[in-house]
Amino acid sequence: MNEPVLRLSGIRKAYNPGKPNEVVVLRGADLEVARGEVVALVAPSGAGKSTLLHIAGLLDTPDAGEVAIAGEVMSRQSDRRRTIIRRQEVGFVYQFHHLLPEFTAIENVSLPQRADGAARAEATARAQGLLESVGLGDRASHRPAALSGGEQQRVAFCRAMANRPKLLLADEPTGNLDPATSDTVFGALMALVRETGLSALIATHNLDLAARMDRRVEMRDGGLVPL
Ligand code: ADP
Repeated sequence: MNEPVLRLSGIRKAYNPGKPNEVVVLRGADLEVARGEVVALVAPSGAGKSTLLHIAGLLDTPDAGEVAIAGEVMSRQSDRRRTIIRRQEVGFVYQFHHLLPEFTAIENVSLPQRADGAARAEATARAQGLLESVGLGDRASHRPAALSGGEQQRVAFCRAMANRPKLLLADEPTGNLDPATSDTVFGALMALVRETGLSALIATHNLDLAARMDRRVEMRDGGLVPL
């Protein structure tokens, strides 16, 4: 199948539409992310990156336009189907790790699999494998507070990949880290993405990181243009 993993067509989004405080963020954004492709979404803060990622990840709905994931047009699916796709096909990584503080690294990575019906032993084995692949095999029983910022973020990557999504959406995934740590942690993310062959849309304003992806798009005037 040559269907793109993510297709955004004519996405429009405004906050507080029709009111004096209306903010028009997206004015017809188009984007296709092919299977196995990693695309950088480059834009200054406030341009609408989070809004676009939330719409792409089915956490928000556009005012107009279509989102298709692996060929399924979302506006034609039931709420139940959209929830399943969001849980099984899409992984999210944010600037802040959002790990659950009372759970260990391996438990944090196991939880999405357990929520999706995986048996405990299977979820734990996959979580351990993922942690090992980002160099954290010996940190599995640490709680987030006992991990460095870069380690916390690597655990968050593993959690995002736990259910074998087709699409990874990341919002400034290394934005909270110092430049040297950001560089290695981004390397770990890219290695994991390449190993699993999934597609990714990664927002960043770091042009060095953007240069390490397959393609770059810039958000301009509410649309997306090649960079
Ligand atoms: P970015 O992720 O690029 O920093 P956002 O998508 O968060 O940008 O926001 C884009 C614009 O929309 C900003 O001007 C922001 O203030 C505005 N905005 C975001 N969320 C809301 C909201 N819930 N209500 C009103 N305005 C919002």
